[in-house]
Amino acid sequence: HTDAETDGDAVATLRTPIVAVLGHVDHGKTTLLDRIRGSTVTEGEAGAITQHIGATAVPLETVSELAGSLVDPTDFDLPGLLFIDTPGHHSFSTLRSRGGALADIAVLVVDVNDGFQPQTIEAIDILQRTETPFVVAANKIDTVPGWNPQGDVPIQESYDAQSDRARETLDERLYELIGELADHDFSADMYWRVQNFANNVGVVPTSAETGEGVPDVLTVLMGLSQRYLKDAMAIDVEGPGAGTVLEVKDQKGFGTAIDVVLYDGTVRADDTVVVGSTGEPIVTDVRALLQPRPLAEIRTEKRFEQVDAVSAAAGLKIAAPDLDDAMAGAPVRVVRDRSREEVVQEVQEELAAIGVTTEEE
Ligand code: GDP
Repeated sequence: HTDAETDGDAVATLRTPIVAVLGHVDHGKTTLLDRIRGSTVTEGEAGAITQHIGATAVPLETVSELAGSLVDPTDFDLPGLLFIDTPGHHSFSTLRSRGGALADIAVLVVDVNDGFQPQTIEAIDILQRTETPFVVAANKIDTVPGWNPQGDVPIQESYDAQSDRARETLDERLYELIGELADHDFSADMYWRVQNFANNVGVVPTSAETGEGVPDVLTVLMGLSQRYLKDAMAIDVEGPGAGTVLEVKDQKGFGTAIDVVLYDGTVRADDTVVVGSTGEPIVTDVRALLQPRPLAEIRTEKRFEQVDAVSAAAGLKIAAPDLDDAMAGAPVRVVRDRSREEVVQEVQEELAAIGVTTEEE
């Protein structure tokens, strides 16, 4: 059903990088995510954005369509980007995979007028600690006095349409932001001047409200992923699934279910899974795997459809007995042809790692 699902031999497959959006409250995280979700090819067409449980998949075709000349799709072999829908560094710092961050890459949203704020600093500390590559979206550029909004266009095009005065004001603010990044030990520059993203953080002027610069954010994320995450994205997609619990919820008709972001392998409807909990890890048999129906069908049908298998990277709902004590942020592992004890131990070790580092927002 999903793009990542294949029936072929289990050779390494490149999965979609998982993206988190972080930043201070009100700096525009939700608006940016909404803008990315809204800037879509008509549903059902090739390259349409798809809604997952807790995440949104933006295929490479959509990125290149939005980004126009910024992106040559033949430069990329990663399939696109999977954005976690819950913005904020609380979800980011508690969602871990193998002790690292669940997200492979991040967008740090900073209001250009407001600059660095307490939660910006918290976010940047977490990014530093987890060694997560990120791009800075210098947001709300449309609020610069005299700004002439341009819509969903690459930033250079928008820049060219501004008065000298508006451009100068924006540049001043961007350089202040670059200075603040330097104060926190990140050498940064406007993204189009960055030659080596391993040493420099790219700053992308954006307006989540008008869409200006949003194509550039997607482009830089694709470029960073391709350059620095390609090896990490090579997975045995047919192998036993591994993921992280986003939420534990009652699902009508199915009892307690967990929302999961899967970052490795496949989970099948007949699998046994081990799930981290407040007590001993839960060992249980999948009752149903659920994914959202395409929007077009939502009115007439139930919101979710049952599927036979889901492959990484993806968001899905797993319904199974005994999930009441499952814990948000905890690992989920498919047992498949391994011993239960081995998988339970893996989950316990991962939980121990989370236990010492879990943070409150
Ligand atoms: P969050 O708390 O970081 O998720 O911030 P929101 O996305 O909820 O945005 C906070 C407020 O700023 C909302 O009223 C948004 O409409 C507004 N906002 C977000 N991005 C922009 C932007 O680029 N330009 C303008 N003018 N307003 C924005």
